[in-house]
Amino acid sequence: MLRVMDIDVVVVGAGVMGLACARSLARSGQSVLILEREGAIGTETSSRNSEVIHAGLYYPKGSLKAHLCVQGKAKLYAFCESHGIAHRKCGKLIVATSADELPLIEALQSKGEANGVSDLVMLDQRQARQLEPALDCIAALHSPSTGIIDSHGYMLALQGDAEDAGAAIAFHAPFEGSTQIAEGFEIRVGGADPMTITSRMLVNAAGLHGSRVAACIEGLPVSAIPQTGYAKGNYFMLTGRAPFNHLIYPAPHAHGLGVHLTFDLGGQARFGPDVEWVDEIDYEVDPNRVEGFEDAVRRYWPQMPRNALVPGYSGIRPKISGPSDPAADFRIDGPQTHGVSGLVNLFGIESPGLTASLAIADQVKDLLTA
Ligand SMILES: Cc1cc2nc3c(=O)[nH]c(=O)nc-3n(C[C@H](O)[C@H](O)[C@H](O)COP(=O)(O)OP(=O)(O)OC[C@H]3O[C@@H](n4cnc5c(N)ncnc54)[C@H](O)[C@@H]3O)c2cc1C
Repeated sequence: MLRVMDIDVVVVGAGVMGLACARSLARSGQSVLILEREGAIGTETSSRNSEVIHAGLYYPKGSLKAHLCVQGKAKLYAFCESHGIAHRKCGKLIVATSADELPLIEALQSKGEANGVSDLVMLDQRQARQLEPALDCIAALHSPSTGIIDSHGYMLALQGDAEDAGAAIAFHAPFEGSTQIAEGFEIRVGGADPMTITSRMLVNAAGLHGSRVAACIEGLPVSAIPQTGYAKGNYFMLTGRAPFNHLIYPAPHAHGLGVHLTFDLGGQARFGPDVEWVDEIDYEVDPNRVEGFEDAVRRYWPQMPRNALVPGYSGIRPKISGPSDPAADFRIDGPQTHGVSGLVNLFGIESPGLTASLAIADQVKDLLTA
């Protein structure tokens, strides 16, 4: 078995979060090794999402989700500009389709403003139709700072920056466990070429597997490890072009933002994600869910052609709250939370994790190096 010594930080996972953390730590002068059990970056949740740069409307004031989304959005737009990442600040409309939904979008406006999103505008039906003639609603909240991004291009740029600063990625290199030693952690890596690595610091950015990885970190109290449940989000693709220029979202509901319309930078429209609690990771999309999608979409786009939706793809939210609990905040657990020096665990990094990734990464770096 190979022994590798003298690494400052091992990051578990090469999704958007592991890559952003590795970049931030490497640029602060730390030697960094990312362990990724798959053969490529971003094969799980980071490539199975809506690719939306969120404005920061949905999260309670003072929460990590609220301030890291707003901070992360600004950092992400600046990163896209400086690194030539394809993106578009297309804006979005969150619609009320009946009188009882009006208070929901008004509350969203107040929440967004409390979070520092200062450009929100409430539109009446006529104003909303001027922007989007095919839209059926009684009012809509316009969020101009919402956008879309090429998430894979973004991850490649994070990897490039991290490698330029000296970080390395080991693929097919699953983290199997760690033991505390005087200098930090002795880390066991499996796969075809098992090895042991000694590192001063450890970042757990394993997404859906974060709780499982944490349970293999010796010395971490069990009480510091939340259970991660899985809430799958299915997408259906639209055949043909959508008659919309903005992203269209319904009024929000518990655990998800509602079946919304987003498009990629090539203009391919997709609807989703819905919420389906599952026990296992399984990305198959059940075609029978189409009826629920059609009903949800026709509430704001009654003219959607018949049989226009085909099964697309799915992603799974790492949930640290249950189906009947209020939505949980991100958990960025550093030594002050769990008592293990040199360790940060990321738990429950669901939406808006992509948007918040650069801000989360800076917080992780500060927890470990400040
Ligand atoms: C349906 C859906 C829609 C979303 N839409 C948006 C959106 O529009 N905007 C937004 O801002 N956010 C969105 N999000 C959230 C965003 O996608 C996530 O917050 C983000 O991708 C999480 O990244 P991650 O790196 O934590 O996880 P992942 O991308 O899952 O990466 C974890 C990595 O860890 C690796 N790994 C696991 N175990 C081990 C191990 N033992 N050893 C080594 N490697 C391991 C995995 O292989 C994987 O590569 C959405 C999420 C979902 C589910």
